Amino acid sequence: RVPVTALLQRPADAILRPQAAAHPKIPLPGDLFAPERRNSRGVEFGARLALDQLLADVKAEAADLKPIADATPDQTNAAVVAARAGFAAWSRTPAGTRAAALEQAAHLLESRGAHFIALLQREGGKTLDDALSELREAADFCRYYAAQGRKLFGSEMAMPGPTGESNALAMRGRGVFVAISPWNFPLAIFLGQVTAALMAGNCVVAKPAEQTPRIAREAVALLHEAGIPKSALQLVTGDGRIGAVLTAHADIAGVVFTGSTEVARSINRTLAAKDGPIVPLIAETGGINAMIADATALPEQVADDVVTSAFRSAGQRCSALRLLFVQEDVADRMIEMIAGAARELRIGDPLDVATHVGPVIDMEAKQRLDAHVARMKTEAKLHFAGQAPEGCFVAPHIFELKDAGQLTEEVFGPILHVVRYRAENLERVLQAIERTGYGLTLGIHSRIDDTIEAIIDRARIGNVYVNRNMIGAVVGVQPFGGNGLSGTGPKAGGPHYLARFATEQTVTINT
Ligand code: NAD
Repeated sequence: RVPVTALLQRPADAILRPQAAAHPKIPLPGDLFAPERRNSRGVEFGARLALDQLLADVKAEAADLKPIADATPDQTNAAVVAARAGFAAWSRTPAGTRAAALEQAAHLLESRGAHFIALLQREGGKTLDDALSELREAADFCRYYAAQGRKLFGSEMAMPGPTGESNALAMRGRGVFVAISPWNFPLAIFLGQVTAALMAGNCVVAKPAEQTPRIAREAVALLHEAGIPKSALQLVTGDGRIGAVLTAHADIAGVVFTGSTEVARSINRTLAAKDGPIVPLIAETGGINAMIADATALPEQVADDVVTSAFRSAGQRCSALRLLFVQEDVADRMIEMIAGAARELRIGDPLDVATHVGPVIDMEAKQRLDAHVARMKTEAKLHFAGQAPEGCFVAPHIFELKDAGQLTEEVFGPILHVVRYRAENLERVLQAIERTGYGLTLGIHSRIDDTIEAIIDRARIGNVYVNRNMIGAVVGVQPFGGNGLSGTGPKAGGPHYLARFATEQTVTINT
């Protein structure tokens, strides 16, 4: 029996995630890891108590989901003008003051954890486990960028003066940064982009995904309450057309975008066609992410990690596993175990704590995924199809492909594609991964160090996970972002991220 269901079903495990170990100093919402709540066997007892309380608090939250009107193009342009007017004051605000506002935002997020979890569940369709992880990630971004920002922007860097002059290098904001985000992490990615741009001294006009404007609106209100001036942070809501108005505006100094590769290309074209200063684009996009499992891998662990990587969050993570390469010798057994583990997943209401797989984001997404499943049924071998309730749900599916080339685009849902390979053809597997053009995440399951090293050395992939699942990068610990069609870099939650939002000024004084 594969332990995946045990792992997912015990409510306490929803909280006992690796992030907690990685960031022991950052409290979880409701202080779930308060030491006095630990029993002699660790945190589980306390976590259970806290989880019951949290569940009651989340249920008591009445998330307001009344529709939010889209901004008009005029309002959108006005937001850029207002942000531009706020730039002089915000860019001169000391880095320590900017950082303190972000730290206060992290504190407010955690102290209102139940409220944001309720919003994430009701507007974003997140399970409790996913909503908790996202809340934690959002707070982590605020604190991490505050800490990085104090270092980078706190004082200028003295440079050597061999010519007898005094030389210094200072980092400052660029101007108005446009931040365009997706619906799949409507709090964490939204706040990650916005706080990075603000910390670097930019004013921001943020445009969240049209599916999740309420979460964005509350996040912006929270940042204003935490001390970010209204002129420094403007929110405009609406779909891609509003995003296009923003990116075409003459007075913007940078764009940070997370979403599909197709939209990133279109933004790139808009920026390139503009007269005036060259506007940088930071783009974090999609992937056709692969995992390679060879015959030495531990089958139970592979099954557990595959199910988590492919089906958790209903496969709606940019890092999610899409293409599993299994060594021929163990393929039958492994596919059977993975299907067995997938069979145990409970699909349905995200407000039910026992649910593993919630809804997909909207009916459009469901129709696209259903069409892909229908196509795969004619072109590939079906190994597993779960049962989804009526409504906006897509059941996990496992298909076996003859050739990895049959998967030509990112399929953003709980659909796993398996391809068998012979040990002597590992190189062909790596070529197939390279041919996708993407380079976001890669999983490796093997107990042979040489194989692992050879794959890592060869793969041009942003985040590689060995003998574990391949989702849930931790801020400040596993900087996240891809190469090729998956993005421009740098990595979110990494030490080089903030620098990309800034300009550098060298001052040489003849003393
Ligand atoms: P999307 O590209 O459809 O939309 C993203 C954002 O862009 C939305 O706010 C949308 O309104 C806006 N937009 C659409 N057209 C635009 C245009 N012409 N000009 C300006 N803005 C425009 O993506 P999505 O469906 O919201 O999110 C899913 C995608 O995001 C997947 O491809 C996923 O892999 C990717 N993603 C990547 C990462 C990462 O870190 N690499 C993280 C999360 C999601």
